[in-house]
Amino acid sequence: MIAIGVPAEGEDEPRIGLTPETVKKLVKQGAKVTVRSGAGLRSHFSDADYQEAGAAIAKTDKEAVADADIVLTVRRPPLALAKSMKKGAALIGMLDPFADAANLDALAKTGVSLFSMELMPRISRAQSMDVLSSQSNLAGYKAVVDAAAAFERALPMMMTAAGTVPAAKVFVMGVGVAGLQAIATARRLGAIVTATDVRPAVKEQVASLGAKFIAVEDEEFKQAETAGGYAKEMSDAYRKKQAELIAEHVKNQDIVITTALIPGRPAPKLISKAMIESMKPGSIIVDLAVERGGNAELAKPGEIAMHNGVRIFGLLNLPGSVPVNASSLYARNLQAFVEPLIDKENKTLAINWDDEIVKGTAIARGGAIVNAMIAERLGTNGTKPKGGKP
Ligand code: NAD
Repeated sequence: MIAIGVPAEGEDEPRIGLTPETVKKLVKQGAKVTVRSGAGLRSHFSDADYQEAGAAIAKTDKEAVADADIVLTVRRPPLALAKSMKKGAALIGMLDPFADAANLDALAKTGVSLFSMELMPRISRAQSMDVLSSQSNLAGYKAVVDAAAAFERALPMMMTAAGTVPAAKVFVMGVGVAGLQAIATARRLGAIVTATDVRPAVKEQVASLGAKFIAVEDEEFKQAETAGGYAKEMSDAYRKKQAELIAEHVKNQDIVITTALIPGRPAPKLISKAMIESMKPGSIIVDLAVERGGNAELAKPGEIAMHNGVRIFGLLNLPGSVPVNASSLYARNLQAFVEPLIDKENKTLAINWDDEIVKGTAIARGGAIVNAMIAERLGTNGTKPKGGKP
């Protein structure tokens, strides 16, 4: 019988990798699931809820993972946790594969197979496993709600006997999953919304949500999308033209939500200090890219910075501030990923290493890094696991 273990997350992570709903599904598939006591509490899932769904409760993280063939986490766990896992067992979570390479290498050397959900290929079969989408969507929503709550004026236009309250102007930079949800949320709150991106494909999506698209639409723009659906890093010449356009636009905005990311690269700097200084006091910037260096100058991770009366929100882990939904969706992503890893007849771990989804997400196997991009960063040659098949 395949064993699945779920340890508790760190203090700053309210989400959890499995919910009672997904435990039930995995138990039905023949898995034995063990959850660390109290691990779901910050998402309002009690030990009793997990037990009712068919899970066993472990007193410690070590006990939760020691016999597991698969360990499910939200974040990259401490090295000690991987060391207490069985060799060849799979550790699956959002392992932040481009951060702290030395620690990642040490995790790989424990002999545990590492799978990073952020590397999920963007193919239709993997849509239900796409953690970036499920979490970014919530982040986009929460960014607007946080900004609206902190904004000292109303968002919708209101016509009252005492006069008209003008609608607030919201500008969304980067129209991926988070940006689209930010546009939709701001529109629902009655704001006048504009948005920008470097990928031409989003132009129609922006219009369909009732917002106006603004961008430098030159030849480079026409080719800014990679085959994987992500943005390319733009040239200096493009960035200069873009900055001129944005500078003119930003000074009239009340709320700016920035979400622009480029896979494996620092976030592009889109809002300069001078642009912030051109904004009206009381304006708000929410920088969702702050964990990757930020789109706005002056944005500080985990803080609300203030400059000339403009607040710059650099709050971390916005999906974690709606943990009930974030955990539910994340756990469904994990369950969809784990299901094909279990042999239907023998109920054992049966990873098809040739599968595109497995290949895309696997970063370590048999004590070695197997993802070429990460191996290159580490200066190891990667791709060949040590010894036999784990
Ligand atoms: P992301 O988080 O990587 O980036 C956010 C946005 O920032 C992107 O739209 C990107 O184009 C934009 N951006 C990057 N550099 C910029 C710059 N200099 N200026 C302005 N904007 C910039 O993106 P994401 O949310 O992961 O989505 C990327 C695409 O993948 C979207 O089209 C999304 O719909 C698609 N997607 C596909 C699948 C699937 O097929 N399985 C799943 C999820 C998302």
